[in-house]
Amino acid sequence: MSLAEQMDTVTDGAAGTVDRHATTRTFESTDPATGAVVGVLPVHDDDAVRETVERARPAARAWAELGFDGRKQRLNAYRGYLARRMHELADLVHRENGKPHGDAILEITLAIDHLAWAGAHARKTLGSRKVRAGMLAANHAAYLEYQPLGVVGVIGPWNYPVFTPMGSIAYALAAGNAVVFKPSEYTPAIGAWLAAAWRAAVPDAADAFQVVTGYGETGAALCRPGVDKLAFTGSAPTGRKVMAACAENLVPVLMELGGKDAMIVDDDADVVAAADAAVWGAMSNAGQTCIGIERVYATSAVYDRFVAEVTEQVRTLRPGSDDEATYGPMTMASQTGIVRRHLDDAAAAGGRSVRGDADPSLFPNENYLPPAVLLDVPESSSAIREETFGPTLTITKVRDAEEALERANATSYGLGGSVFAKSKARGLDLARRMRSGMTAVNSVITFASVPALPFGGVGESGFGRIHGEDGLKEFTRAKAITRQRVALPVNLMSFGRPASATDAVARVMGMIHGRHR
Ligand code: NAD
Repeated sequence: MSLAEQMDTVTDGAAGTVDRHATTRTFESTDPATGAVVGVLPVHDDDAVRETVERARPAARAWAELGFDGRKQRLNAYRGYLARRMHELADLVHRENGKPHGDAILEITLAIDHLAWAGAHARKTLGSRKVRAGMLAANHAAYLEYQPLGVVGVIGPWNYPVFTPMGSIAYALAAGNAVVFKPSEYTPAIGAWLAAAWRAAVPDAADAFQVVTGYGETGAALCRPGVDKLAFTGSAPTGRKVMAACAENLVPVLMELGGKDAMIVDDDADVVAAADAAVWGAMSNAGQTCIGIERVYATSAVYDRFVAEVTEQVRTLRPGSDDEATYGPMTMASQTGIVRRHLDDAAAAGGRSVRGDADPSLFPNENYLPPAVLLDVPESSSAIREETFGPTLTITKVRDAEEALERANATSYGLGGSVFAKSKARGLDLARRMRSGMTAVNSVITFASVPALPFGGVGESGFGRIHGEDGLKEFTRAKAITRQRVALPVNLMSFGRPASATDAVARVMGMIHGRHR
């Protein structure tokens, strides 16, 4: 099916909701490179969102009843569909988000890989298993299983409009839940495309994955109508609002929030490789990556070589919308103001900056920012303390890796990070002590491409995990079952037990545990 036909399906799907709920307002999503309209989508109001969740309720029951194999088969059909239309979706991602086509392909392939893993590992991770009943219940069998929650609301950002929400959607579906997804207002057509693709690939469970579109109010509406869990990915300030709204109905939340990720470059690091990783980690996707590198702490032994290498590499970067461009425009025009403020603050505080060679007067419009590397920026400045989310990187000289770690950890965020060190023991030790949910040694961002690894942060970067076994369990409730196998002559949990029974238990337990000091 072509993109045009897909979008017709999208419109049909959304229009069904629009007609049923008399939602007449629409909004446009535009190409950040050209301003051209990419899609016109409904603004789903409270009623429309509530009715979508109500429609998801029976769909969730039917989806759960399919069991692990039935769901796996359908998730496979979905990933096959996405894989066959990868370029079509990448074209839409390029137009609506602005990133180069190649980066969009990379993002989509990661999402497909996670879909495959989630479907394949759901039974092993969540299915019923026997556990040891222990001494006090030795005459019972004990079972543990992880059951679906029901309907999961997913609210997503625009920076990785396929990969990021799919980290919740794929794992929630594989765990047996229905999903109602509210994509960012900056990338709603991509969200609608994903749902239309689901309807086409999995027609017998079409309502197991639905989309509602609109602004923040539509997201807020999704917190109200009784979803069983809300998976939010976005900024920390919005995350606070979502959590407060969900608290009113005791709806549990998963928070995937912002970051200020650091890279540590140790004395024995491969400096050229570290520079390459830092530049890509900081500047790809125009720096709009939650797990992108924003700060580097390089030891005095490697600082000069590292700065020289980064400077050389940054000079070759050129933002644009053509096939050769290294990164695209800022998706959200307002973000350019934040990036400029951080650069101005750093300059006012005495920081030096290195820019790319690309001539900004040749950039297609003001949504394109040149790469900027900031040196000697005080730790108190906004470029070090706040999420910049632009094509910038600070590099700070430190005495040694211990000081680097101390500074890397001196942030309220704690999402990802990177360590470059030749010594395996040293690299892993620094990675363990980095206060973040994820750290890559001798690379950047790699943890996001390992489906078996959990993804999520600490502190202001949020809590809860997507991806991996933890990501599957995140969308379930643990269910404990015991079954009495044989009746004992004395039942401790009965008013009929003799008084001597507890004395005997006390004696045995005293002997077993009392010797521990
Ligand atoms: P945002 O917080 O502005 O918006 C995120 C989503 O929340 C959007 O869909 C928006 O419409 C919705 N929303 C806004 N107000 C709402 C409300 N009151 N109730 C419910 N929903 C509401 O974030 P953004 O600008 O779209 O995304 C960028 C941010 O996301 C950055 O901070 C980035 O670091 C973070 N991010 C985190 C991860 C992660 O996995 N930790 C991944 C990608 C992006």
